Amino acid sequence: MPATHEGSCLCGGIQFTVTGDPFLYILCHCTNCKKASGSAFLANAWFKYEDVEVKDNNLLRTYKDIGTKSGSTLVRQFCSNCGSNVFIRPDKNNLKKGDVYIIHAPLVEGYEAWAPNRESFPEDRCSFLREIMIKPKAKSKL
Ligand SMILES: [Zn+2]
Ligand SMILES: [Zn+2]
Repeated sequence: MPATHEGSCLCGGIQFTVTGDPFLYILCHCTNCKKASGSAFLANAWFKYEDVEVKDNNLLRTYKDIGTKSGSTLVRQFCSNCGSNVFIRPDKNNLKKGDVYIIHAPLVEGYEAWAPNRESFPEDRCSFLREIMIKPKAKSKL
């Protein structure tokens, strides 16, 4: 049985559990992730829909991000109490790769053990960041 990890937003109002480790862990340098997070990049851990159980989502709010650099509409979900970025979901009309929860990794207990295996939009990486150590997975499941 893969280990389960507890996750929550900053205030703890949103609680969830993930099973196993992310099948992809992507650092995203796009402008929208920077704006949404208020930080230099987002650390996006990808989980299959069935591997995430959201226990309390009353505070969860949704922003439909139609202006992404990739051109795919994304649904950004955040806590309406503390403002944490919690999940990114593909738009319902854009489930070609299957439904996933993309979770800001530091929300999940034990995320320190994970190493990113890809960067998106490295050309937009903040100039003060050095090359980031990436450990590509032997075989991507996407
Ligand atoms: Zn919160
Ligand atoms: Zn992004």
